[in-house]
Amino acid sequence: MIEQPITAVYPGSFDPFHLGHLDIVRRAITIFPRVVVGVLQNTDKTPLLPTEQRVDLIRSTLEDMPGVEVTAFSGLLVDFLRESRARVILRGMRAVSDFEYEFQIALMNRRLWNPAETVFLTPTEEFTYLSGRVVREIWRLGGDVSGLVPEPVRRALEELRRQAR
Ligand code: ADP
Repeated sequence: MIEQPITAVYPGSFDPFHLGHLDIVRRAITIFPRVVVGVLQNTDKTPLLPTEQRVDLIRSTLEDMPGVEVTAFSGLLVDFLRESRARVILRGMRAVSDFEYEFQIALMNRRLWNPAETVFLTPTEEFTYLSGRVVREIWRLGGDVSGLVPEPVRRALEELRRQAR
C-alpha cells in the first residue's frame, strides 16, 4: 500500500504570530510535505488583531514557503483536521509548564477522532520565552516588538499603535 503524504495542521490563535511560531512552521515543513496553519477564530475574547488580519499577516510572512497554507477555522479541531485532509496536529512545546494541558488535549482529540496524532516540536532556545501574551503585553506598554515578531506583524502592530493614539 502506498502511504498518503501526511499533512499536518498547526492550530493556534496566533494573536499575534511571533518568531516562536515561525520557528515551529520552519521545522515542520522539513518533516511534512504540507502544513496548514489553522487560525482559531476566538469567540469568547476580543483579540488584539481580528482573525482575517491575522490570517493575512501569517500569509505574508510565509509566502515564500511552498507547502504551507493558512486558513481560519472555528469549532472542533478534529473537524478542521478532516476538512484539511490531515491527521497530524502540530503543537509547540516551550517548557514543562506546557506539558500537562497539551497532553490532556492530545488525548482528547484522539478520543474525538482516533486517527488524530499530536506531534510536539520544540523551538530554538531563544524563542522558548516567547508567547502571544508576552508580545501583547510589551506592545500595550509601548515597547519595541521587533526581534519578537516577523516584519509584516511588526508593521501591523505599529500601525495599530498609531491608530490608538
Ligand atoms: P501563544 O501561546 O504564543 O499565544 P498560541 O496559543 O496561538 O500561541 O499557540 C499556538 C501554538 O504555538 C501552540 O502549540 C503553542 O505551544 C505554540 N507556541 C507558542 N509560542 C511558542 C514558542 N515561543 N515556541 C514554540 N511554540 C510556541
